[in-house]
Amino acid sequence: MLRVENVQRAYGRFMALSDANLTVEKGKIVAVIGPNGAGKSTLFKLITGHVRPDGGQILFKGQDLIGLSPHEICRRGISLAFQIVNIFSRMTVFENVQAAVLAHQGRSWSLLRPARTLAVAETMEILESVGLASKAHRVSGTLSHGDQKVLEMAIALSTEPELLILDEPTAGMSPEETEVSIELVKRLSAERGLTILFCEHDIELVFSISDEIMVLRAGETIVQGLPEAVRTNAAVQEAYLGGGA
Ligand code: ADP
Ligand code: MG
Repeated sequence: MLRVENVQRAYGRFMALSDANLTVEKGKIVAVIGPNGAGKSTLFKLITGHVRPDGGQILFKGQDLIGLSPHEICRRGISLAFQIVNIFSRMTVFENVQAAVLAHQGRSWSLLRPARTLAVAETMEILESVGLASKAHRVSGTLSHGDQKVLEMAIALSTEPELLILDEPTAGMSPEETEVSIELVKRLSAERGLTILFCEHDIELVFSISDEIMVLRAGETIVQGLPEAVRTNAAVQEAYLGGGA
């Protein structure tokens, strides 16, 4: 479904990514791991068109994504939930998702017509699927951090993606919230057949839910493979255990 080949990106003279490689097959849960600053968020933003690569190829369903706008890439079926929560905190949970659904449908809010009645069923369906339906009318800024991250995920789902990218979906969550979110990710993958690409600090958690893992170190892909192969890979062991990172 997605193929990233030899992708590079510099910020000034600093090479944030020097050789990123990644393959994501349809229906799989794929994780990217690597130390802070390895380039994980940059890689995700390159895939979604928020950052332009300096070189390499990014193919989605056989088509080149490089040069397309984030909006065009979203239309083709890729959605990103950012590492830093990006919601309208004064709007309700319902309004946040509804706004995203309407934007995706190419409709916008009208100041003259109450927006309340638009896309209600679609919005509630998404809130139900992520477990936020009972909090639909809460003001988003008053939600717990964990619920705000889930709302960010709901917003990403409102564009009906085939590939959902989650940048540290459990960052800052309590262990209980983390467990709920991980169950949610697994359920979205199983029930909707969603393909999921994510990165996450908790390595044990990554190994427990991923079909495949790609290891990024200092902007370079060391390896991608099945969890067991990655766990026993000598270069990965060195990067994580030998202080090579
Ligand atoms: P990760 O998500 O793996 O922690 P990032 O992709 O956020 O890594 O960052 C990779 C490197 O690129 C870091 O050293 C970071 O400081 C640098 N970087 C990221 N974004 C920018 C930017 N907009 N300008 C300059 N440097 C950046
Ligand atoms: Mg990051």
